[in-house]
Amino acid sequence: MRERLYLFDTTLRDGAQTNGVDFTLADKLAIMDMLDTLGIDYIEGGYPGANPTDTQLFAEPHVLKATFTAFGMTRRPGRSTSNDPGLAALLEAKAEAICFVAKSWDYQVKVALETTLDENLASIRDSVRAAKAKGREVLLDCEHFFDGYKANPSYALACARTAYEEGARWVVLCDTNGGTLPHEVEEIVGEVVRAIPGDHVGIHAHNDTEQAVANSFAAVRAGARQIQGTLNGLGERCGNANLVSIIPTLKLKPDFAEQFDIGVSDENLAKLAHISRELDERLNRAPNRHAPYVGESAFTTKAGIHASAIVKDPATYEHVEPESVGNRRKLLVSDQAGRSNVLAALERIGLTVNKNDPRIARLLDEVKEREAIGYAYEAAEASFELLARRMLGTVPKFFDVSYFDVKVEQRSHNGGGPEVLTTAVVKVKVGNDTLISAAEGNGPVNALDVALRKDLGKYQKFIDGLKLTDYRVRILNAGTEAVTRVLIESEDETGEHWTTIGVSPNIIDASFQALMDSIVYKLVRSGAPA
Ligand SMILES: [Zn+2]
Repeated sequence: MRERLYLFDTTLRDGAQTNGVDFTLADKLAIMDMLDTLGIDYIEGGYPGANPTDTQLFAEPHVLKATFTAFGMTRRPGRSTSNDPGLAALLEAKAEAICFVAKSWDYQVKVALETTLDENLASIRDSVRAAKAKGREVLLDCEHFFDGYKANPSYALACARTAYEEGARWVVLCDTNGGTLPHEVEEIVGEVVRAIPGDHVGIHAHNDTEQAVANSFAAVRAGARQIQGTLNGLGERCGNANLVSIIPTLKLKPDFAEQFDIGVSDENLAKLAHISRELDERLNRAPNRHAPYVGESAFTTKAGIHASAIVKDPATYEHVEPESVGNRRKLLVSDQAGRSNVLAALERIGLTVNKNDPRIARLLDEVKEREAIGYAYEAAEASFELLARRMLGTVPKFFDVSYFDVKVEQRSHNGGGPEVLTTAVVKVKVGNDTLISAAEGNGPVNALDVALRKDLGKYQKFIDGLKLTDYRVRILNAGTEAVTRVLIESEDETGEHWTTIGVSPNIIDASFQALMDSIVYKLVRSGAPA
């Protein structure tokens, strides 16, 4: 018999505190859908009354498998529950559950809240009671719980017990400053669950010592049965506990998997990498390549000796199967790589070549030569695939760019400030047709991209779903001069994404190479005819 462990997502509330993240209503609805698909138990949508987006979100009920939760404060000190507009807005919110936040550190109650310890307890009791009377499931986030417990354990515990005894489904112990260490969390939660049953206790950890995930597991080991966190660890400062790391650990590591059930099925676990990247894309953030489980590099091996072992048996250097979280194994082709890497890379992209084929050695030499002048194929697998396919003669000549021109001009603008205009013209030969396209863009690379992809004749339908999702530039010193390396990440309508590379002393030329590779790669993948 496995115990049920509950997952509570606060991406849309605590995650909204992330520097540079600003959710629109459409973002929130899309992310709610992702979380619900995944199998999260509680989705905290936001703080009704705090801003127009959240007020709008909670104005309508939402049909979810998860318990839709509104966040807000307990009644203000010195007021009654019926005379507190903030609490009234929260009680009116169209949500099945309400998560109150209350102070549980005596020092904060006195200094920040400027009230008495007893009045804070009364506020917790009255607020839980009012929400229960409205038929809501109630949670209490005990702010600064661990710091409070260290300063005054009986008061911190009294805050949690007051909510529990009044009928709160969960009391959540928050490490608000994020400075508590795993052994402290385990010890303190162990003491709390002697007073409040663990299946009513949750953990809310922040990542200020890079241990929010570890702290969440420490709490579970001590008896807590709800974990609060966010997708990709979004959150203020260093972020919240990352559910994208927590979920696979709970599902795939026997110590947890044999003891607990969570709402995420194996089938949905395999969507995790995609969901993580989809969120980054929606927020226009470059994905963390080194993210555990779901990052591009999470199952990537570079050194030749590891690579040859992985080909024989993946378990030699992998702690779980990449497919279980929707990721994939990557063997890098690079400077340090030997023949075995190239062979393994060819096999993975589906090119069967006899291992004694002389073209393998030529390909390896070509890779080494190009890497010496600044190419980095380990970061641009799609460009490697094209290089390999070209050397093996399997890339058709789809089209030729016979000419391009990019113009950047600055004009003064009717008394206003100067305006920078960019236009590009591209001449493409597709079969016997010559196609000329012009476009404006917000910069030379954008204008070139728009013009190039405006009209590719019979190939246009294959690239309609192509999107550029990231563009990275580095200036390198390779050989005797500075060169520019451009990496472009693209995605298509199926959600597949790939990276291409260009290197040149000229940034436009480098970008052009990477763009061309991205388009040709897409045509190859789509099986476009020659
Ligand atoms: Zn928090």
